[in-house]
Amino acid sequence: MLDVTKSPTNTIIFEGHTFYLKRDDLLHTDFSGNKARKFYYFLENDFPDIKKIISYGSAQSNAMYSLSVLAKMRGWEFEYFVEHIADYVKENPHGNYKSALDNGMQIHVGRGVLSPTKNTLIIEEGGRQKEAEYGIKILAHEIIEWQKENKLDELNIFLPSGTGTTALFLQKHLPDNAVYTNPCVGDSAYLKKQFLELEEDEKTHPTILSLEKKYHFGKLYRENYKIWLKLQQQTGVVFDLLYDPLGWRTLTAHPEVIAKPLLYIHQGGVLGNESMLPRYERKYNKKELENENILQ
Ligand SMILES: *Cc1c(COP(=O)(O)O)cnc(C)c1O
Repeated sequence: MLDVTKSPTNTIIFEGHTFYLKRDDLLHTDFSGNKARKFYYFLENDFPDIKKIISYGSAQSNAMYSLSVLAKMRGWEFEYFVEHIADYVKENPHGNYKSALDNGMQIHVGRGVLSPTKNTLIIEEGGRQKEAEYGIKILAHEIIEWQKENKLDELNIFLPSGTGTTALFLQKHLPDNAVYTNPCVGDSAYLKKQFLELEEDEKTHPTILSLEKKYHFGKLYRENYKIWLKLQQQTGVVFDLLYDPLGWRTLTAHPEVIAKPLLYIHQGGVLGNESMLPRYERKYNKKELENENILQ
């Protein structure tokens, strides 16, 4: 079976503060980030009858790309349904969309028939399903081991959420740590609802932090690009442009959370920057943003 080895943990300094960084972006060259954790169950277990994966979501999604890698690794077909593909993307394939097509993804615009058969595996949008627990539990155990080796009595964990699946299962398997997260899709109430759908017991839910202003997923915000540039300048690490900027902005706005040692989970998604970065570069002046102070 294919091996996805465990990821390293680095120390970074950002805005004068030391953070630990779990590099799930470095898990494997093609199968990495939290989608690799969430889909690990399907990589590791035997599915003698399965010939095809069917899923749906946006045409630039990180989950779509990771499923195309999984399908290729397993020799399965991959069919993916989107509501819409922007003309610009169709004419100039790039980012997750191009890489997934290169891996053999068959993309359809419209609603597919998502009824499972003996030979098909239906994957929910963004990998929001209980099988994700299998790989996220392994991530939790890596963190527990690392914390022991480094003799840290206390450790807070932070990661930004989409569906909230990763944060939820991580908190469930890290009962001795506080897991903090912020909503990047929808608001706190939406994220709470997502948690409840996967786990009724609220005691095992992560703690939700948020910023006052409302942000729309996938839209461009000056402050998001600015913190992304600063992170790269100061730490040398490339973060994703959809989730991490809001994650870091939320985290740095909550000093009580970083008063204890903090482990930030880098959940990958950097291939998606190929579509986000040119949009940002067209809209904002990079040099100007680099010279501004972020914490204002
Ligand atoms: C998918 C994704 C998330 C969100 O994960 P959820 O489990 O849906 O909360 C966060 N960051 C990156 C880089 C992702 O690709």
